[in-house]
Amino acid sequence: MADKVLVIGGGISGITAAVEAAEAGLETVIVEKNPYLGGRVSQLYKYFPKLCPPYCGLEINFRRIKQNPKISYFTLAEVESISGSEGDFTAQVRVNPRYVNEKCTNCGECAAACPAQRADDYNYGMKSTTAIYLPHDLAFPMRYVLDKSACGSGCQACADACAYGAIDLNMEPKTMEIKASSIVMATGWNPYDASRIENLGFGVIPNVITNVMMERLAAPNGPTKGRILRPSDGKEVKKIAFAQCAGSRDENNLPYCSAICCMASLKQATYLRDADAESTAEIFYIDLRAPGKYEDFLRRLQEDENVALTKGKVAKIEEDAATGDPVVTVEDVLGGGKIRKQFDLVVLAAGMEPAAKGVKMPMAVSFEGNGFVDGDGLAAGISVCGVARRPDDVSTSVQDATSAALACLQTSARALETAGGN
Ligand SMILES: Cc1cc2nc3c(=O)[nH]c(=O)nc-3n(C[C@H](O)[C@H](O)[C@H](O)COP(=O)(O)OP(=O)(O)OC[C@H]3O[C@@H](n4cnc5c(N)ncnc54)[C@H](O)[C@@H]3O)c2cc1C
Repeated sequence: MADKVLVIGGGISGITAAVEAAEAGLETVIVEKNPYLGGRVSQLYKYFPKLCPPYCGLEINFRRIKQNPKISYFTLAEVESISGSEGDFTAQVRVNPRYVNEKCTNCGECAAACPAQRADDYNYGMKSTTAIYLPHDLAFPMRYVLDKSACGSGCQACADACAYGAIDLNMEPKTMEIKASSIVMATGWNPYDASRIENLGFGVIPNVITNVMMERLAAPNGPTKGRILRPSDGKEVKKIAFAQCAGSRDENNLPYCSAICCMASLKQATYLRDADAESTAEIFYIDLRAPGKYEDFLRRLQEDENVALTKGKVAKIEEDAATGDPVVTVEDVLGGGKIRKQFDLVVLAAGMEPAAKGVKMPMAVSFEGNGFVDGDGLAAGISVCGVARRPDDVSTSVQDATSAALACLQTSARALETAGGN
């Protein structure tokens, strides 16, 4: 029997569960499908409500991982199957090739020599990278990775350019077996595909973007180096609108509230307001949800006379052909009638969808009606935490992950008791 915790997903929830369980004495292993740990949080520019960079918190956790021999992790990895039961699970894990080994010094010579390009998923396709790339400039692990699907046939320019023998174009996928006493599912979320919301113009009107794209647009390591420029012509954004509940609380899209979108838009309004004193922001909402400790943040925005909070559902967005400006039509809830207004950029506050939804999972998982994992429907010894379980902010996800670590300790205690009793 292995007294080990297998954590599926290396976002803030999975990392927290692993670190907390390891610091309480259990061995933990994180299996993450991306080439880096940190999940969606690593793509945020700032955290509400303190407006600090998420990387501060992530780096503390990365240090805890590096310093703790009880924690191991695999990136580019996925669990293919799980058998057994509480106290005695066996997982088959596939680790995909990175084509870059630990000799990599991040000198960047490989990327400089690479002739091929790929869409940069870290920046939600708003820029491209070379086929060999560093996922982002604070990536953990800090190592290049090759997207072989983007390479030209027979090309080995990166390997030829590497002075350290760090590139191995013949790396193969590996499958390994991990024994674990308990499992934590922390697979998180994906942004809702806003092109499915027919009336809001995403994917058709270039100056309509989503809230996750806005995080990258404002980030100094993003596609515009932190300048909020609109996609169609690179014009500096002065007048921004946010369309709340874009696809959310809507039976045709996501029937639920994603809990964080109001706070995310309030935060993103500060990105523009802090960058440009003349700028204006208008948030069109159905209900503004800033519960508990977040109310002070809402007040701060209410006090800014360049921020308008307008109760109204955005009914449609069109493009002004002459300027490329998005034109928003809103059902005015308080005043009655319709509002029509033109902006430089519109941000759709689209919701979070569970990453596990519609994906073949390695074990039996039951889902709630909204697609999030039903924790009560999991087998003994398996727990779920963070946004895999329900849409939430980081601090709640971290608390949830700490409870998952506690559940692992309880499994371990039960297993010890059984072993002692035998
Ligand atoms: C626009 C926007 C702004 C936000 N801003 C804030 C903010 O300022 N403050 C705040 O508190 N919250 C904010 N949030 C919410 C925050 O992003 C989430 O609370 C947080 O990402 C939850 O972390 P998680 O680890 O549960 O999920 P994720 O961050 O999604 O991490 C899950 C990880 O699991 C991996 N994974 C998925 N499936 C598998 C698999 N099958 N095998 C292996 N690995 C897998 C993923 O690659 C990922 O690394 C924001 C959300 C949005 C949409």
